Amino acid sequence: MCGVVYTVVTVKHIITECQKYEDMRKKHQISQQIGEALGLDPQSITKILQFIKEIHIVYINS
Ligand SMILES: [Zn+2]
Repeated sequence: MCGVVYTVVTVKHIITECQKYEDMRKKHQISQQIGEALGLDPQSITKILQFIKEIHIVYINS
């Protein structure tokens, strides 16, 4: 799935590390700290869901 480096694609990788999704992480203001990115406040949840929705759409179309 990740074309940049061979790696097991984990949630942590997609949310905090993957270069492929760097622009989209910035767009959705996803924290590089996994604990913050997956924080339980409603704002963090909204951001992460929008991010995941968008990368899913990109993946289907590519
Ligand atoms: Zn990657």
